[in-house]
Amino acid sequence: MSARIVLPLAFALSACTVATNEAPAPEAPVTSLPAVPDEPFHEACEPWDDWDKPARPFSLMGHTYYVGTCGISAILVTGEEGHVLIDSGISEAVPNILASIRSLGVDPRGIKYILMSHEHFDHVGGHAALKAATGAQVIASAAAKPVLESGLVAADDPQANVDHPPFPGVTVDRIVADGGTLELGNLKFTAHATPGHSPGALSWTWWSCNLPGEPPVCRRMAYADSLSPVSADDYRFSDHPDVVAAFRNSIDKVRFLQCDYLVTPHPSASGLIKRLRDGTYGEPGECQRYADKLTKALDTRLAKEAAR
Ligand SMILES: [Zn+2]
Repeated sequence: MSARIVLPLAFALSACTVATNEAPAPEAPVTSLPAVPDEPFHEACEPWDDWDKPARPFSLMGHTYYVGTCGISAILVTGEEGHVLIDSGISEAVPNILASIRSLGVDPRGIKYILMSHEHFDHVGGHAALKAATGAQVIASAAAKPVLESGLVAADDPQANVDHPPFPGVTVDRIVADGGTLELGNLKFTAHATPGHSPGALSWTWWSCNLPGEPPVCRRMAYADSLSPVSADDYRFSDHPDVVAAFRNSIDKVRFLQCDYLVTPHPSASGLIKRLRDGTYGEPGECQRYADKLTKALDTRLAKEAAR
């Protein structure tokens, strides 16, 4: 029986308020997604930047858009033969991200690849739902693959003993190695393995160009991973010299990334709100300054461990 015949009958029953043994009300059709705020990102998100607080999407540069929430990045890059999304945020934020994408006039089903920064629930927790909504292929590093597929943090992750909530697992369609590239029509992304914060962490670079009708300008975009020395209470980075060496190597990579515009998985980690508000977003040296900050944080952490 078609829905056309069922629905009028169900609506008639639910409208009859005096009837007993009524059939359950029909499921409300999905007519709206969460509202996208009117205020610009740096105004709406300045007072508080919770991971699930909706944010207005905006162009970071040309056809590269911020479509994440106030507290967690999701980056949409649109192309002539399909689009690419980097990171999905927490699973609860997926409706916000889809609403943001649609508000840009982009059909989510045009997304062909979903990339990742690092394999923690706050950046890949929405991958399964977004893969289902878009039909996109999921791209991950080899180390992150089992984490994405199980929804459980890896045993060798500094945050292995942190009480991370499990997230919905998702099948990884393709592994990308350090220096590997991903091409889709006029888009080309380069993966940079940047382990440290997590074993499978990736940073990404690509070119973004102005939209048709604007001056013909292209810029180098960098999505550099978190690289913050956060861990479970019982974990000491200094007990893992290999991890510390990889960490420093990753920070060095970030320092020399092609980087006219920097965005990070937590926008606050690189002061995105402040840079947008002050008009300093895109000033030369963003990745170098970010690398300096990361080095300082790692050195501080190791000094604290040494003093214990
Ligand atoms: Zn993390």
